[in-house]
Amino acid sequence: MRMEDTICALSTAQGMGAIAMIRISGSKSFPTIDKLFKPFSAKHRLDKAQGYQNLFGKLVQGEKVIDEVMLSVYRGPASYTGEDVIEIACHGSVYIQEQIIRALLAEGIRLADPGEYTLRAYLNGKMDLSQAEAVADLIASESAASHQVALQQMRGGFSAEIRQLREELINFVALIELELDFSEEDVEFANRSELESLLERIQTLLTRLIESYDTGNVIKNGVPVAIVGAPNAGKSTLLNALLNEEKAIVTEVAGTTRDAIEDELHLGGITYRFIDTAGIRETEDVVEKIGIERTFEKIEQSALVLHLIDARTDNLAENGAAIREEIAMIKEKSADKQLLLLANKSDQSGQAELEGFFAEDEFLAISAKEKHGMEALVDRLKAMYDWKQLAASQSIVTNARHLSALQNSLAEIDKVREGLALEITGDLLSLDIRAALAQLGSIIGEVDVDKDILGAIFGKFCIGK
Ligand code: GDP
Repeated sequence: MRMEDTICALSTAQGMGAIAMIRISGSKSFPTIDKLFKPFSAKHRLDKAQGYQNLFGKLVQGEKVIDEVMLSVYRGPASYTGEDVIEIACHGSVYIQEQIIRALLAEGIRLADPGEYTLRAYLNGKMDLSQAEAVADLIASESAASHQVALQQMRGGFSAEIRQLREELINFVALIELELDFSEEDVEFANRSELESLLERIQTLLTRLIESYDTGNVIKNGVPVAIVGAPNAGKSTLLNALLNEEKAIVTEVAGTTRDAIEDELHLGGITYRFIDTAGIRETEDVVEKIGIERTFEKIEQSALVLHLIDARTDNLAENGAAIREEIAMIKEKSADKQLLLLANKSDQSGQAELEGFFAEDEFLAISAKEKHGMEALVDRLKAMYDWKQLAASQSIVTNARHLSALQNSLAEIDKVREGLALEITGDLLSLDIRAALAQLGSIIGEVDVDKDILGAIFGKFCIGK
């Protein structure tokens, strides 16, 4: 990590735009820009500028004027990275962007690595690791839910709770280690029952956070949905109705929707990723067989299964036994999933009839083609993933690295509690607590975090952030 370098990057999206922004961070920011910037008035002189000021002038390289630009200047440590930062807002031509970056490189400033500004912000103590990770999540957020959760985490989220409990635990380990210095005198500075109750509080928090990951994962990555059902049950039609556009091929010929199509739908702040599938009915046809296996595979990958039945009166009468078998089969395969049974084509059957046929199963009558029952379906989906209440009242973990650190922390805390119950000696107890502290610290980055881990976290950022 070359923290002493001054770095630059285009922070707005690649390509032409009305305006582009190039950001510079590091000790050479001001001296370098002072050479390249010619203010339009004395009020806009860079050397006189304080932090949080805007300056208007020309950006030049030698005799050549590159553009008229607006500078936003920040004096470290009061900046995003904690260093001196200058942001150049220029006209958004790709040529101008390039010319400015070239001029900066010619002055010995180097291009920033992905996420390097945020990495510096973390290393300079402007934010903790989980907050830095939330910045990437915020940039990537595409739904109301992922946006809210990322924003909450960036503002501190559960870091504050973890930090506080961790500090209390540090006090205990200090007291226990103090006891060791007085080992001959058999004193007890650390009140064991207070320690026990602290451990309990930590356990409660960790467990709650770990449990929130199910929701967090849905919020961040969306709900993978498998639409399954026999050929011609109306899967493509339903998908189209939901997406309201013709992305899947609707066809009269049975079993022609063979290629899996992925599509996304945003409902109530949650992203649903639909996985369209081929038919599931057992058949001799080779291609169809692949379809069946594929269906099971898709169910496997999904969290929610929409099982479509061609519930026209004629079809129920003709294929009733096969349909019941199909329902049983899908139910079995979806045992650990959310499953919704949809009686499609209900425009060609009656409610009483459907109730008779599906007496044993909970179902929703819809007509994908006539767009009947779609609102009820959407309401059901929204009710299934009602994140708003949860997100408002507590922190939600969305990050797999945090999940694993939380699980490891919980295991370590369990060990400390066991040791405490067995009244193990202070030196062993302090070792266990230190192990737990290290795990807790790794969530917020308060212990030395492995360089590889930092590389993995910040390497996923956009360049310029
Ligand atoms: P898939 O093979 O399951 O994807 O089925 P499709 O979506 O291709 O639909 C097969 C046929 O059923 C098409 O002719 C659709 O127009 C028709 N269909 C789909 N949904 C309905 C519905 O709700 N009512 C009626 N009457 N026909 C439908």
